[in-house]
Amino acid sequence: MEHLHHVYRDEELLCEGVPVRRIAEKVGTPVFIYSRDVIQKHFQKLVDAFRQVETLVCYSVKALGNLAICQVLRDLGAGFDVVSGGELFRALQAGGRAKKIVFAGVGKSARVNPDVDPKTHTYITTGKRETKFGLDLETAERLAAAIPGLTGVRMIGVHVHIGSQITEVTPHLEALKKALAFADRARGLGNPVEWINLGGGFGIHYREVEAPPVSDYADVLQPLIAPSGYRLIIEPGRFIVGNAGLLVSRVLYVKQSGDRRFVICDAGMNDLIRPALYGAWHEVWPVSTPYAKGSPASDLASTPADVVGPVCESADFLARDRMLPPIRDGELLAVFSAGAYGMSMASNYNGRPRPAEVLVSGSLFEVIRTRETWDDLIRGERKVARWD
Ligand SMILES: *Cc1c(COP(=O)(O)O)cnc(C)c1O
Repeated sequence: MEHLHHVYRDEELLCEGVPVRRIAEKVGTPVFIYSRDVIQKHFQKLVDAFRQVETLVCYSVKALGNLAICQVLRDLGAGFDVVSGGELFRALQAGGRAKKIVFAGVGKSARVNPDVDPKTHTYITTGKRETKFGLDLETAERLAAAIPGLTGVRMIGVHVHIGSQITEVTPHLEALKKALAFADRARGLGNPVEWINLGGGFGIHYREVEAPPVSDYADVLQPLIAPSGYRLIIEPGRFIVGNAGLLVSRVLYVKQSGDRRFVICDAGMNDLIRPALYGAWHEVWPVSTPYAKGSPASDLASTPADVVGPVCESADFLARDRMLPPIRDGELLAVFSAGAYGMSMASNYNGRPRPAEVLVSGSLFEVIRTRETWDDLIRGERKVARWD
């Protein structure tokens, strides 16, 4: 599981120096657990890779918005990418400086749609002409011509964001070429364009080593930007926090239904919707196990299983048709690479309080968001008078 940035020692899954079992026993389940070290390392990988041009890394708050996580990133020097007033509030509350915050809500929309296919899942494709995002190049060009004549508006940058979980370099390169050409034209029309914002979308590992190292992107993109003199913004979300997070769940019971084995967990689609929403694949493995994943003993002992949640929907699964070792009632399971678009997409569907969140730093762990209570579920609601 090395590529997923968490390791087993003495048959126990660790998050940095802390046995995951200990956290689950103390905080309860389901729980999201994040490694500060993995977050820092991924941030640093970006900084190192994009050394050749002046680059501002704006962490995309929507991937994982917890204040403590935003603070970790602010302390590393990150700015923030926000898509709403609520996320702006969050970034400021975490100590983010307004000068280093990029706002790019779809509802306000002044983002160029470069018509580039990112070759990822359709639901996370944004930079194609037929998606709802951004301005097409012709409209953007008309605006670029009009803006110098307006008071109170300046065009200082060009922003593209073509999609998420992109595991090829070419789509980013294509988008950059179009953005640079457009920025030059906008400058020619009298706009003080200084920034090229390439958005986020750098892919991570879910199944195995899937995404190229981020230096592969940087090595191709920087030579184009460097001579132009533009400053670069990137807006990584998933890349920074995706592999840093685990969702840990307790098995309620195991049910054999015909020849199918169902492992029913206390975490479901309301906690982690990616499998139901995108058919996303997350590694799932017991937290305490004598079976090292991929070992001959594990291969011999494993049989197919569906890992499902307690929500009343057939789409409520975390993993389907997986080869898993024997699993007992009450055991703990870890869902890997759950840091991005996990808690930030969690809901109260089926009257389920959202999980606690824990941040691990070395041999310490702290609760950075308490588990919701039943009272939280009805907060803000009003009982109405009844007329018989
Ligand atoms: C979602 C989003 C991002 C982050 O995408 P990742 O795939 O998580 O890196 C960056 N910029 C904008 C404008 C976004 O909407």
